[in-house]
Amino acid sequence: MLIDSKQVCNVCLTVANNVDKVVFITAHCRGEEVHICTGCIPSVIHGSGEVVKSNEEVKKAVSNS
Ligand SMILES: [Zn+2]
Repeated sequence: MLIDSKQVCNVCLTVANNVDKVVFITAHCRGEEVHICTGCIPSVIHGSGEVVKSNEEVKKAVSNS
């Protein structure tokens, strides 16, 4: 998802920044647009999709950290 125009991984909560060149893909999960970093793509593909957090969960997790 996007927080302050930055991509945040909906699985591991990695935030895109200018230091680490993390690549994100955009996907649709349970009706909402989510972002997934390349490191998490395998677990999403091979898993059931349960690892993908909802945008609401990501927002809460990021604001609590
Ligand atoms: Zn990730």
